[in-house]
Amino acid sequence: HLQDNSYLAEINKLYTKEVAEVKSVPVVVTEKTSIYNAITTLFLEDVGSLFVVDEEDKNLVGVISRKDLLKITIGDADINQVPVSVAMTRMPNIITIRADDTVLLAAKRLVNYEIDALPVVENFIDESGEPLEDKLKVIGRVSKTNITRVLADLGLEM
Ligand code: ADP
Repeated sequence: HLQDNSYLAEINKLYTKEVAEVKSVPVVVTEKTSIYNAITTLFLEDVGSLFVVDEEDKNLVGVISRKDLLKITIGDADINQVPVSVAMTRMPNIITIRADDTVLLAAKRLVNYEIDALPVVENFIDESGEPLEDKLKVIGRVSKTNITRVLADLGLEM
């Protein structure tokens, strides 16, 4: 069975499938969002981490995960007052992926950096049509769940 062409074709899909085909809608909050509201958003949107954007130009500034929120909550902070910007991981330390990158590259980044999700990004464009190098627009999200779904959907008999 391992030598079947159909089997190889299915495995090959793993190498060629693009992030654009598997990404989900990102769940985004601004940096002034309170820890309390961020926790509420996690429950309402049923995700494990939130992407944090700048209030003015909406570019990616951070990621806040379940454990970041737990950590600040068990400390002394007033979670109704303290904003997510205090507890998040910040740029330039955010690991991202592009829509035209492969699902395999996304999987490798999730494993290598020991994180659950990657923001799918593109550069903001300035008035003259030039990409702004340091301003990233969040256009999606790829989590371990998206990757697992790709495996589960492969047309292989079990
Ligand atoms: P959890 O903290 O709930 O286990 P993660 O494993 O995704 O969730 O996050 C681990 C740490 O890595 C957290 O401090 C989080 O802020 C950070 N993190 C999560 N996603 C990213 C990312 N895409 N790039 C950089 N850091 C991230």
